[in-house]
Amino acid sequence: MRLCKEEYREIKEMVGMRQAAGFYGYHPDRRGNCICPFHQDRHPSMKIYPHDRGYYCFSCGSGGDVINFVGRLYGLDNEQAAKKLINDFSLPIKTEGLSYKENRERSKRIRKQKQMKEFYTYAKNILSVYRQMLCDAIRNPEDPDFTEACQELSIVEYRLSCLDTDLEDYFNDEKAVRKIGEVRERITGWHEGTGAGRTIPG
Ligand SMILES: [Zn+2]
Repeated sequence: MRLCKEEYREIKEMVGMRQAAGFYGYHPDRRGNCICPFHQDRHPSMKIYPHDRGYYCFSCGSGGDVINFVGRLYGLDNEQAAKKLINDFSLPIKTEGLSYKENRERSKRIRKQKQMKEFYTYAKNILSVYRQMLCDAIRNPEDPDFTEACQELSIVEYRLSCLDTDLEDYFNDEKAVRKIGEVRERITGWHEGTGAGRTIPG
């Protein structure tokens, strides 16, 4: 079975770059500097970034993520490298011999990830536009939307940060998702000056 994008993402989340480099014999120092396996390196010129942020060699310019690193190290393509990581780190990602139920759950998971990604783009776009409107309004106390801006600006900023830090919780929170729709209506009514949708309950 071919791995899908979602599984590549999971692997990168589960296996930190430093962890992987160390596992395959390249031990970064405390600052993440490491001997580069991809050129004749005598002084550590590769930087290993923590978590899923990959690596970069300042001498030979090779860089990428953890899957790329393993692929290059062992001469594997991405798919093979990903499967090697799954095996070597005993990751709970099953790629073969899936039962009907497991297959269905896998599809469901993939579908949800896709919806979440779409929601992220949609919500980020709407909240950013709204934030910009509030930022404009808050500069002028005479602006009819000044009060709203004072009340809502920090809330919008909080929501924007939640999108980046707790996307899944946000996505699962029906009330929060509905709120995005309300903000969208507010944006539409903004220039009509009718006050339609002016109050967005926090
Ligand atoms: Zn190098």
